[in-house]
Formats: sequence, C-alpha cells, structure tokens
Amino acid sequence: MLRIAIQSKGRLYDESMALLEEAGIKLPGGKRTLLVPARNFPIEVLFLRDDDIPESVASGVADVGIVGLNEVLEKRCPVGVLKKLGFGRCRLSLAIPQDIDYPGRDWFTGKKIATSYPGILSDYLHRNGIEADIHVITGSVEIAPGIRLADAIFDIVSSGSTLVSNRLKEVEQVVESEAVLIGTDSLSGEKQEILDELIFRFESVQAADDKKYILMNVPQTKLDDVLAVLPGIKSPTVMPLADPAWCSVHTVLDEKRFWEIINRLKAAGAEGIVVLDIEKMIL
Ligand code: ATP
Ligand code: ZN
Repeated sequence: MLRIAIQSKGRLYDESMALLEEAGIKLPGGKRTLLVPARNFPIEVLFLRDDDIPESVASGVADVGIVGLNEVLEKRCPVGVLKKLGFGRCRLSLAIPQDIDYPGRDWFTGKKIATSYPGILSDYLHRNGIEADIHVITGSVEIAPGIRLADAIFDIVSSGSTLVSNRLKEVEQVVESEAVLIGTDSLSGEKQEILDELIFRFESVQAADDKKYILMNVPQTKLDDVLAVLPGIKSPTVMPLADPAWCSVHTVLDEKRFWEIINRLKAAGAEGIVVLDIEKMIL
C-alpha cells in the first residue's frame, strides 16, 4: 500500500483529486476521513494542510505527496521532486507600492518586507547581498504596505489582480512554482512498484492533456497537400471511404498549434473536420 498526501481543501484539492481520478484511482464517496484507501488500487490518500505535506513525506508518515513547489522550497525538507504536475502555477515575487520608482534590487536594503515565505525570501536576499527586515505574517500579506505594516511584500502572484487592487506592482520574480509530486528514495520494493505505476498513469494523463485527436475527409487529389500541413506528426492514418475519390485522415495535434493548423488544413482541401479530446495517451 502506497500512501499519498494531498491538500485536504484549498487551491490544489480539486486538481489533485481530478488527477487521481483520471489515473483510474477510485476513492469511496460519502463521509471523508483523514485517511482513505482507494477501492481499486493499492494506494491510500492522506488529506492534510499543504504546509504539512513536505514534512509528512520527509518523515515517512506519507510515502509521496502532491504540493506546491513553493511549500517544498520554504520548508527545506529532504524530499525530492519526482514529477512536475503542471497545475497550481504561480510565482513568488517581490512587490512594492505602485507610486514608487523602482531603481533595482538595492531599493530593498533596509526596508521592511512582509511575507509568509521567510525561508525563500531570506535565501534570495542573502544571495543578492541585500540586508532587509523580514516581517512574517500569515494570510493577507498584500494589505501590509497599505496599512504601513511593511514597505513591500514577498508573496504568491498568479494573475496579478490582487496586487493591482492593493495598489502594488511586481518588481522581482523570485521563484516559479507549480504542483509537484514529492517523495524520498527510501521506499520498499513493493511501494516503489506502485509508485512507478502511479507515475506512468500520471504521465499518460498529462501526455493527453494538450493534445487533440482530429479526423477529416480529404479528396484523393488533395491528399498530398493535406499531409504536407501535418509535419512532425508521426505518420497520420489514411483510410479509404465508400466514395473512392475521398479518404479519411486521422492524426493527433498539439493544442498550442491547433488553430493555425486547422486553418491550413481547410485551405489545403480538408472537409468535415472533427476534433476530439484524448483521455489518455500511452507513450
Ligand atoms: P492550507 O489550508 O492547506 O494550508 P493554503 O491557504 O495555505 O491552504 P492555498 O491558498 O489553498 O493554500 O494554496 C495552495 C497552493 O496553491 C499554494 O501553495 C500555491 O502552490 C498554489 N497556488 C496557485 N495559485 C495560487 C494563488 N493565486 N494564490 C495562492 N496559492 C496559489
Ligand atoms: Zn497552507
């Protein structure tokens, strides 16, 4: 049995649960307890506050965990990042009041900076030879400059709208973060096998995430033109249709290039283009 710690509620909860579900791990519904065994896979889920996840993995209370990289760096626990998971993206940045002209990092010398991430901030200040006063507060860090509790803040930014509504501007991006799967290298053989299977399933879900499956009808006379628009994609499938003058082309497309390629396919003569989501892709 492999024990995985995830956030019990909060910003990472929904996507952590969705990832487990897409990986085919079924948790019983109904009343939820702290520790929930899956119904169909040798895994149990431990629901914790995100702050406690790095330590729970380092101490062996959980075997692996899903948590923001920001928490891992802050807690300085001896755990490794086994896999980046691509959700919960944010950055940790220094921000100052909008109306101040920012001359560069030295501005922070002698200033008071409010944060919930004193560990990461003091590393950063130290690396850059800046002496500043770190003021630790939990929650609502962004209001500190407005009430003159601090000159600046060091906090999580994702869209930046919280900064704007508090009349702050981001001046230094210090760390990029996303949800990661963490673990140690001291698992038993049996647990390691379960973990390998879990990572394999996560990778299959992720590989499918930014891909689309498309099928289209193409006149035989335009087939070469259409295939020429699909470079770099491993040999598309070409199938005959009842009408011998036409064929059907199937392939997998990267979502990022989707609109560009669809328009070129239409121009090259493809018709009746159907686009489907891919649930999993085994690479
Ligand atoms: P807990 O009750 O578990 O301690 P929390 O309030 O500390 O929760 P959340 O606000 O739920 O934490 O955020 C969890 C993680 O989500 C953060 O540590 C970060 O990695 C990530 N995250 C992504 N975007 C944001 C954002 N805009 N604000 C805060 N966290 C974000
Ligand atoms: Zn927390």
